[in-house]
Amino acid sequence: MTEALVEHWVDNARYPGTSARRGAVTNPATGKVTASVCFADEADARHVIAAAARAARSWGRASLSTRVRIMFRFRELLNARKEELAAIITAEHGKALDDALGEVTRGLEVVEFACGMPHLLKGAFSESVSTGINVHSKRQPLGVVGIISPFNFPAMVPMWFYPIAIGAGNTVVVKPSEKDPSALLWTAELWKEAGLPDGVFNVLQGDKVAVDALLDSPDVAAVSFVGSTPIAQYVYERATANGKRVQALGGAKNHMLVMPDADLDVVADAAVNAGFGSAGERCMAISVLVAVGPVADDVIARITSRMAKLRVGDGTLGCDMGPLVTAAHRDRVASFVDAGVQAGAKLVVDGRDIVVDDRPDGFWLGPTLFDHVTPDMTVYTEEIFGPVLSVVRVGTYRDAVDLVNANPYGNGVALFTRDGGVARDFEQDVQVGMIGVNVPIPVPMAYYSFGGWKSSLFGDSHAHGVEGVHFFTRGKVVTSRWVDPATSPSSGLALAFPTHD
Ligand code: NAD
Repeated sequence: MTEALVEHWVDNARYPGTSARRGAVTNPATGKVTASVCFADEADARHVIAAAARAARSWGRASLSTRVRIMFRFRELLNARKEELAAIITAEHGKALDDALGEVTRGLEVVEFACGMPHLLKGAFSESVSTGINVHSKRQPLGVVGIISPFNFPAMVPMWFYPIAIGAGNTVVVKPSEKDPSALLWTAELWKEAGLPDGVFNVLQGDKVAVDALLDSPDVAAVSFVGSTPIAQYVYERATANGKRVQALGGAKNHMLVMPDADLDVVADAAVNAGFGSAGERCMAISVLVAVGPVADDVIARITSRMAKLRVGDGTLGCDMGPLVTAAHRDRVASFVDAGVQAGAKLVVDGRDIVVDDRPDGFWLGPTLFDHVTPDMTVYTEEIFGPVLSVVRVGTYRDAVDLVNANPYGNGVALFTRDGGVARDFEQDVQVGMIGVNVPIPVPMAYYSFGGWKSSLFGDSHAHGVEGVHFFTRGKVVTSRWVDPATSPSSGLALAFPTHD
């Protein structure tokens, strides 16, 4: 049987490129290779970027009504066919189907936000700022935008960016993760069906070669990146050195603080959902539970009993948690568990030896829980990105906040308490971009902006919301005077710096 080929997408058509470079796409639940994906070389990248550059002028000048009508059509098509996209995500990423559907639904919210682009792009107007002079401001598209995404949300993360970029009049080249590249190709077909003109939405498949081509191309005006911190930093430095506008969202180590007054059943549900959902492969996953004061033993008992009920298996078959994305990633996560044991943390639940019936070759690692983790252990210092939850015990609320603030990452954090005063203090003091109060995964709605602090973000702009609109547009201010010769004769020569009257 010939393997499916996942191609690039350019000018509203699949494009295999001229490079013979390929990568394997695997179903993580079965361990079987299901497709091969084209890896761009420099010539392929130039070809795709050139199409986006050709389309940029006409799309940037298309009327707002045209752009928004297509956006609405895309929204309707995606909403009607979201199960198809969810199935593609599960087949290549491994997450449970309902989780994949949740990912698409959250992405759709950004499309819905972008449907309001006429309002979001409105400028300001001031009449008679000086005698006979008016001022107005406007925002214009940048041109070609590169979007580079990670494996863990193959549909939603690119959707944080492209609806807004396209709605604002830019053309885009999206570089999916090579681990699950089919979701964006499917999305490209949908854009075509929605009536998007050639060259506006393009997909460039591949690895570092494709990424570097986007970072270096003089035709690319801005880059939105999401991935691990070392690559985010690299992308930020290389692309800004090339004069581009860049937002590069990096990795995370998210803490959940549990105060002694918290409702511990709510806490245990939240910790299990946020720690093991999507097998912990979420940048907003909770990976550290900080138990303040005497709560640790009680919380751990409640979490452990819930973990025993989790069904791990093939995401298509109605389980709670699927496999990890690749064998290499599963092995890496398992090595962190080994290191935690060696460092002296107490392994309360060990997911390393899990066996999943009928799926012996899947990339399995069961939910894992550590107690007595200390901040010097690699299980605490490193982003594991797997189903491993660590409990750190601290004496006071202040110790807990200091721990969070000393961590190099600052993506998400959650506090569980019944005390409004503590919650207020927490949201003021904690150096993290997205904060949950009795909410474990505080992913902002599309009309707010998503992004972390410190090593979780390189650049100034967070994703979507008003910051997203600003990122994908440039401001102009126009000062104008229309002289009516009948009533306003020339004021003559005046070389002094203009002032107002
Ligand atoms: P990754 O950094 O390995 O890859 C991200 C993208 O960069 C991919 O498209 C990949 O092809 C490309 N890439 C990889 N190595 C490269 C290199 N050397 N040079 C140029 N490009 C390269 O990340 P991943 O493993 O796909 O995703 C998981 C990471 O993403 C985690 O660290 C997670 O926290 C992070 N993430 C962050 C957010 C956020 O909002 N902050 C959201 C989702 C995921």
